Amino acid sequence: MTGVASSTVAQDVSTLRVEILYTGGTFGMVDGGDGLRPRAGIGGEIADLIDAYTDRFGIPVEFRYHELERVIDSADADPGTARRIAERVRAGLGATPPDGVIVIHGTDTMAYAGARIAFELHDIPVPVVLTGAQIPLGLPASDAADNLMLALNSIATQPAAGVFIAFGSTLHPAVRASKRSCDGYDGFTAVRPLSPPRTPVTHPVAARAGESSPPVGLFTVFPGMDTDLLDAALRIYHGGVVLECYGAGTMPVSEATVTAIGKATERGTPVVAITHCDSGTVDLGRYQPGRALLAVGAIGGGDMTREAALAKLAHLAGLGLPAAELRRWMTTNLLGELTD
Ligand code: ASP
Repeated sequence: MTGVASSTVAQDVSTLRVEILYTGGTFGMVDGGDGLRPRAGIGGEIADLIDAYTDRFGIPVEFRYHELERVIDSADADPGTARRIAERVRAGLGATPPDGVIVIHGTDTMAYAGARIAFELHDIPVPVVLTGAQIPLGLPASDAADNLMLALNSIATQPAAGVFIAFGSTLHPAVRASKRSCDGYDGFTAVRPLSPPRTPVTHPVAARAGESSPPVGLFTVFPGMDTDLLDAALRIYHGGVVLECYGAGTMPVSEATVTAIGKATERGTPVVAITHCDSGTVDLGRYQPGRALLAVGAIGGGDMTREAALAKLAHLAGLGLPAAELRRWMTTNLLGELTD
């Protein structure tokens, strides 16, 4: 669907050109009697919202609207969903890129998807803004319209390229954002600020083409953690595991646990330690458990969020890099996801 909303056009405001990709999520959901479920075919409602945006802000909008073949509850995202969204966004740019792209997405995995899309589209020339809603479009107190307008205004006023999450009152850099509320209008936070690289970085390029990405996973340590559980995770997610540790990068380090991690790194499975803390950074040299992880080849993930660490690891694993290369890029600040 394409459209132009041009009512109440301010003379001096140029037309905003946007691509809109609807992937599902609460934004467009309906309750079929058995709970909220995704709904396809909301292009007409999006056109009405864009008309309302033009009426309210005096900015004419030219837009093209697309939907995924199957719109989903984002909790249903598979390992390839975010990458496919990134490919759709790139393909939709065409010869004359729009001013920006809006991706309407479920909130549950929006931060994971946003971070993955950011790494996949690190070279994109325009802003890509993910948004969604806590309450579906058309229901009382829905935040869907306001969030779409925030996304449009972010593109109108935010000239920088990059991937963002527009939600509630704030535009967050995707590589620092996390969902922190399942009912509040401000559903996302970025507890650490974006940390743009001090000098421009070159990005890694694929070492092999056409192969499928190996599976990567996330494992949170906890008191009483069973080594067999971790060992199973390290075998299933042989492309790499983000290990969400305590504090500065500590965890229960029985001999069996350290052996399991060491065997995994020997098999070529990168293990990246991050912290569950909202402030501070992993320092594997500080405590004995961290040193044990270091000794068996774990990679310090600094202060990356779990979403950014998982997205970056999946992105790098998908490039088929040799272990040393992957380690180097994992610890290099590429997009502001990691404090240098
Ligand atoms: N379960 C929904 C989803 O992630 C939640 C939402 O969109 O707010 O698709």
